[in-house]
Amino acid sequence: MEDMYTSSFYPFKTEEERWAYWAEHISLNRYDTPATQLYLDLFKLAKRKTYFVITTNVDHQFYKAGFPVEKIFAVQGDYGFFQCAKGCHSKLYYNEDIVKDMLAQTVECKIPMKLVPHCPVCGGLMDVNLRKDNYFVEDEAWYAASNRYTAFVRETTDKQVVYLELGVGFNTPGIIRLPFEQMIYQNPNAILIRINSHQPHGAKENSSKTISFSEDMTKVLAAL
Ligand SMILES: [Zn+2]
Repeated sequence: MEDMYTSSFYPFKTEEERWAYWAEHISLNRYDTPATQLYLDLFKLAKRKTYFVITTNVDHQFYKAGFPVEKIFAVQGDYGFFQCAKGCHSKLYYNEDIVKDMLAQTVECKIPMKLVPHCPVCGGLMDVNLRKDNYFVEDEAWYAASNRYTAFVRETTDKQVVYLELGVGFNTPGIIRLPFEQMIYQNPNAILIRINSHQPHGAKENSSKTISFSEDMTKVLAAL
């Protein structure tokens, strides 16, 4: 494992080991880390405006910082929920209690077999609600958030809009980065503020409407 992201794809040999790892991962990122200063600063900046958040992050930081649920579309899932590993039904299961049990009962990097979660419908394995294969569950709340985001985009297509893009690279550019470029291209009143340490530049067609920062985003946002 080289980082938290690649750890999501690690091929654990047993479910007992896999869940012992995931309990630590989820607990650290979702339940034990409060809103960071970056997100608090971002909320301070956003709440004076008409805004909407689209994010591929799955750590719940936007919610923790005070952004209301109805203004967030977390496209790629949330550490705080389990789903059927085969997506046999579209319900998500809040996992705080079971994750705490797993942590408390982990011995030598394994949880006891009896704590390995199983799908209440098909009896198969469960997974964290993260988009990493074709079985990602999009529940009712996901579709509602998606519709609110689409409506917001539609209402603002020709308005004076700032697209503030934070740390979006080329892992999944089709969700935020490229649609933003396209909307900015089509709207003469739009501006892109891209904060990105590695790929800060905009498409050349949008260069006159792009403001790029490659500095540490905590510093940029605090200054804004
Ligand atoms: Zn199932």
